[in-house]
Amino acid sequence: MTQRTALVTGASRGIGKAVAEALRASGAKVLAPARAELELGSEASISAYLSSLKEPVDILVNNAGINRLGASHEVKAGDFEETLRINLMAPFKLAAALGQGMKQRGWGRIVNISSIWGLVVRERRVTYAASKAGVIGLTRALAVELAPHGVLVNSIAPGYINTELTKQNNSPAEIEAISKAIPMGRLGEPAEIAELVAFLCSERNTYLTGQVLACDGGYTCK
Ligand code: NAP
Repeated sequence: MTQRTALVTGASRGIGKAVAEALRASGAKVLAPARAELELGSEASISAYLSSLKEPVDILVNNAGINRLGASHEVKAGDFEETLRINLMAPFKLAAALGQGMKQRGWGRIVNISSIWGLVVRERRVTYAASKAGVIGLTRALAVELAPHGVLVNSIAPGYINTELTKQNNSPAEIEAISKAIPMGRLGEPAEIAELVAFLCSERNTYLTGQVLACDGGYTCK
C-alpha cells in the first residue's frame, strides 16, 4: 500500500492507534489528526480539516466514537445529539467529501467502525446503539453508491475490546463476567480489529463491500 494515503480518526489510543500502526506497517502513509486538528463534534473543524488536506486520501477509517451510558430516561440534554454528531454525522461528512476523490480516481476503501451494539443491544446503550446502527446503514448506502467506482465500503462491529472505553464503561467485575460470556473466553485486542481493517483497506480485498463484520470472539452467536 506504499502508494496509498489513509486517514484514521481517533488514532490517539485504543483501536484507532492499532489501526494506524497496522496501515503504516502495510506501507500506507497515515494521517492521524489529533483532536485539536480535527474535532469531530464540530462541523467547522471538519470543514477546515478537509480544506487543509494537501494530498488525496485513498483510505478512510472512521474509527473515533463515544459511548455515553444511559437508559432513555437518563440521557442528559444534548447527549443524544452529540453522540450522533461524533459517531454518525462526522463519518458521513468525511466519507461524503473524501469519497468524491476516491470515485474520481477509481479506487478507494472506507471502513466505518460500528459496534455489536449496532446489531444487538445491551441495556443503557440507547444513544450509542442508535448511532452505531446508523453507521451500518450509512455503510450499506455508501457501498451501493460507490461500488461502480472501485470504492469498497465496509463496517466492523467490534465486541468487547480491551481499550480505555471498555474499562470506562465496565467495572473489573463486569469485565470478568463478560469474558466468561464470550465463547473465546477473553476480550479482543485492538490489534485484532486493526488486522481486519488492514485487510478491508488493502488491494487483497477485491469483492467485499457493504458488509458488517462482527469481530467479537463469538459473543453475538449465542
Ligand atoms: P477510545 O479508547 O475511547 O478512543 C476513542 C478515540 O476517539 C480517541 O482517539 C479519541 O480522541 C477519539 N475521539 C473521541 N471523541 C472525539 C471527537 N469529538 N473528535 C475527535 N476525536 C474524538 O475508544 P476505542 O475503544 O478505541 O473505540 C474506537 C471505536 O471502536 C469507537 O467508535 C467505538 O465506539 C468502537 N468500539 C469499541 C469497542 C470496545 O470494546 N472498545 C467495541 C465496539 C466498538 P482523544 O484522545 O482526543 O480523546
